[in-house]
Amino acid sequence: MEQDGPSLPALLDPLVPGRECGTCDACCVSLTIDDPELQKPQGYRCRNLVRNVGCGIYETRPETCRAYYCGWRRLKWIQAAMRPDVSRVLVRMQFERPVADQPVRLGVVFVLLEPASLKAEGLAESVAAAVAGDVAVYVSVPGPPGYTSGQARMNDVLQHAVLTRDKPALLDVLRRARSQGKHGNHVPVVLKHRSVAPPGQS
Ligand code: SF4
Ligand code: SF4
Repeated sequence: MEQDGPSLPALLDPLVPGRECGTCDACCVSLTIDDPELQKPQGYRCRNLVRNVGCGIYETRPETCRAYYCGWRRLKWIQAAMRPDVSRVLVRMQFERPVADQPVRLGVVFVLLEPASLKAEGLAESVAAAVAGDVAVYVSVPGPPGYTSGQARMNDVLQHAVLTRDKPALLDVLRRARSQGKHGNHVPVVLKHRSVAPPGQS
């Protein structure tokens, strides 16, 4: 899944105690998966996903799936109320090296899956914690199924609202970012691996 960049477990918290995926299947629908064994573009349900059950091939699921946990499972400063199926916000992690020869850093991408995402309990607090912690913060807005997302870095435009603890202003910045991202230039997702079966629509 889209856990981009080098694998740096040292940058990640261990899984947050007490947080379980439960009935959530957001990552199995919302993310692009480009694994030798499984390919699907974002927005399509994985063909192995069974309603009300979860992964239908859990014991033999691809390595990409085995290695993946979203930010809600990994980062304790993401608010507990933010489970993706409840909040409709999927927190992705990515690793980036802003300057050559500098250490790789963690960035977080708040994927606003639908309009209701902006009303999610804990969204503003989680975004503010990331900005205050000098973590690179992005907002991502999915395009139509099979198309790329719009994504923008938000630290600079959120800085004032975070410093002044102005929650309405912070949410207004996110609302405008979502609106702009929704109308951005979305192009078809290109997968590196060739599909062994039709894309994961069920
Ligand atoms: S999005 Fe997160 S909580 Fe939901 S199923 Fe995936 S890893 Fe689990
Ligand atoms: S193979 Fe299983 S874990 Fe992987 S995306 Fe599909 S349903 Fe989810």
